[in-house]
Amino acid sequence: MQIILVSRHLKAARTITIMPRHLMIAGFVFLALVVGSSATLSWLSGQLGAFGKRDDALSQHAASQQYVSNNLQLMATRLGALQAQVLHLDSLGERLAGLAGVKREAPARDKPAGQGGAFVPAPLTAGELQREIDRLALEVDVRTDELAVLESRFLEQRVKERLLPTTLPVKEAFLGSPFGQRSDPIAGLRAMHEGIDFNAETGTPVVAASDGVVLTAAYRSDFGNMIEVDHGAGLTTRYAHLSRMDVKPGALVKRGEALGAVGSTGRSTGPHLHFEVRMLGVAQNPAQFLKQGEEYAFVKRR
Ligand SMILES: [Zn+2]
Repeated sequence: MQIILVSRHLKAARTITIMPRHLMIAGFVFLALVVGSSATLSWLSGQLGAFGKRDDALSQHAASQQYVSNNLQLMATRLGALQAQVLHLDSLGERLAGLAGVKREAPARDKPAGQGGAFVPAPLTAGELQREIDRLALEVDVRTDELAVLESRFLEQRVKERLLPTTLPVKEAFLGSPFGQRSDPIAGLRAMHEGIDFNAETGTPVVAASDGVVLTAAYRSDFGNMIEVDHGAGLTTRYAHLSRMDVKPGALVKRGEALGAVGSTGRSTGPHLHFEVRMLGVAQNPAQFLKQGEEYAFVKRR
C-alpha cells in the first residue's frame, strides 16, 4: 500500500510505502492499547466496587450487631419483668397457703441468688438469657400448679362453709337437752340423745340451718312431723316434732328459709324443736356446727 502525503512546507509530495508488516504492527499496538486500557478500567472499577462492597459489609455487620445488642437488651428487660412476676407469684402463693392452712414445700431452686432483689440487666449472652428464661418458665409452671391446688382448697372451704349448718334453726328459743347421753324423758332410761332441743312455743318458725334440698317431710311415730334436709357432702339436718311442715321433698331451701313451725308431735313431752346434724348418717353434736355461726352465742339458756 502506498500513502501519498502532501505537505505545504515541503511543497512536495512524499510517498510512504506501507508494507503489510507495518499494518500488522499498528494493529497490534492498537489492540494492545485497547486491551490495556479496558483492563485498567475494569480493574479500577473492580477496585472501586470492592471498596464499596467492603463498606456495605462493614455497615451491615455493624447494623446487625446493633440489632442483636438491642434484642439482647430487650430480652434482658423482659427477663427482669418475668423475674419480678415470679417473685410476686411466690409471695402471693405463700400468703394464700398461709390462709388455706396448707404447708408449702419450698420449691427446688438451682439459683437461689436469682430469687431476691431487683434485676440488674447485666450483659448476658443469648445462651445465658435462654437458660434463665427456661428456668423461669419452669418456676412459673410450678407456681401455677401450686396456685391451682390452693384454689381448689379455697373452693372446697367455701363450699363447705356454705353448706355447714351454722344458722340457728329457731330464734326466740331456750336451749333444752344437749347432745349426748341422757336419761330418756319418757322411758326414764339412759339413752343417746342424737340432737339438741330448743324449747319454744308451738308455732314458732323453724328455718333451714343451711342451703340444701328437702329429703323428707313426713310424720314418724318417734319424731312426729320431721323434715330432713340434705346439704351435700354427706351432711344432713333433721327438724323434728313440728306442728306444721311448709316444704315438700325435693324443694330447694336457702339458709334461714322457713321450713315449718315448732310443735310437740311424736314422742314429745312439750313443744320444742329437736334438731340433728348427721354426717354420712352418723349423728354429730349440732352445737359444734351452730357455734361457728354468729347466733348460737346469744341463745337463751334457762
Ligand atoms: Zn331432742
